[in-house]
Amino acid sequence: MVASLYGVKQAKKAIWIFLEQEGGKLEGVSLELLDKGRQMADNANWSLVGLLIGKDVSEIADEAFSYGADVVVLADDPLLDVFTVDAYTQVTYDAIMEHKPSVFLLGATPNGRDLAGRLAVRVRTGLNADCTNLNLDKKRGILVSEVTGFGGGIAALIEMQNHRPQMATVRPGVFPPGEPDKKRKGKVIKLPIKLEADTIKTKVVERVVGEGVDLTQVPALVVGGRGIEGDFGLMRELAGLIGGDVGATRPPVDDGYIERERQIGQTGVVCRPKVSINCGVSGAFHFVVGVQESDIVISINTDQEAPIFDFTDYCIVGDVFEIIPALTAALSSVKELAHG
Ligand SMILES: Cc1cc2nc3c(=O)[nH]c(=O)nc-3n(C[C@H](O)[C@H](O)[C@H](O)COP(=O)(O)OP(=O)(O)OC[C@H]3O[C@@H](n4cnc5c(N)ncnc54)[C@H](O)[C@@H]3O)c2cc1C
Repeated sequence: MVASLYGVKQAKKAIWIFLEQEGGKLEGVSLELLDKGRQMADNANWSLVGLLIGKDVSEIADEAFSYGADVVVLADDPLLDVFTVDAYTQVTYDAIMEHKPSVFLLGATPNGRDLAGRLAVRVRTGLNADCTNLNLDKKRGILVSEVTGFGGGIAALIEMQNHRPQMATVRPGVFPPGEPDKKRKGKVIKLPIKLEADTIKTKVVERVVGEGVDLTQVPALVVGGRGIEGDFGLMRELAGLIGGDVGATRPPVDDGYIERERQIGQTGVVCRPKVSINCGVSGAFHFVVGVQESDIVISINTDQEAPIFDFTDYCIVGDVFEIIPALTAALSSVKELAHG
């Protein structure tokens, strides 16, 4: 196996987080990683460092400090205005080779994934993608990354013995965001930028922002599985009444009944709503990881042996086409009464 460009002996006791920003606003997953990173750094007595790249982004450093960073390494340059994988990889590579962190974590967003893969190859290290948990073994200084394997049936714990930095990506919503402490302060280290415009091969010709939904932030989720036979109108009505939004298992998405961005689960989004109502969902592991952190789980299924009931607080054995209209009618009349 090829050795990494620096090893255990040269690596500093620091956890680095890639602070992904868009238009001067930090991505939620970066805040989630800062909180998780802070817990691991405190436990091992290591430092927590955010790597912030962009143009005129220095003000975001304060937010990173409030969420736990001790230091922000800042790469601020007009050439870094928008994410291009060649420029961001070069700058991240320079920062990593100068400071030699032991751990480097990124959000598993489209840009985070793009950067992580290219960077791991460049520094000759490994990359644990889409981790479902992370822990730092403080005695050995080893990051223990949990990933699901064999179709979700097992949780594999992966360790990198000799290669540094120990890299991992984590999808949005896997870790809860922490609470900011506005009084926390930290230190900014400016990174000298050695980029030349003509070395950036990627040219951004147009920026199109989709009207995507972010189910990781909704307070209530009504999820339709194969058992609802594509009737998402029924789901939307209920979701509207409880101030929530609609999600789905994979089969209705594959069948084209609903957009892929609404898929919940291992290959979809991981949500933490106050309440999730699962309708006609069997409860495959791949799905359950997406809702198991809900405060309250309600499930409706005709099969009383359905595995979803093992993860459910309120189990309703029955037909969704009877239960949901009855629930919707009851909630509507309560609302009407409340509004006179
Ligand atoms: C690598 C991999 C990744 C995957 N990632 C995901 C993922 O991210 N998200 C995901 O959802 N799946 C994912 N899957 C698929 C997953 O394994 C399951 O196949 C899927 O979640 C099943 O969806 P379902 O519960 O809607 O359908 P089914 O398993 O078919 O269950 C339908 C349920 O509806 C009930 N039902 C039927 N009619 C009614 C009715 N009228 N009223 C009430 N209940 C009724 C049935 O009793 C049954 O329990 C993945 C699979 C693989 C291999």
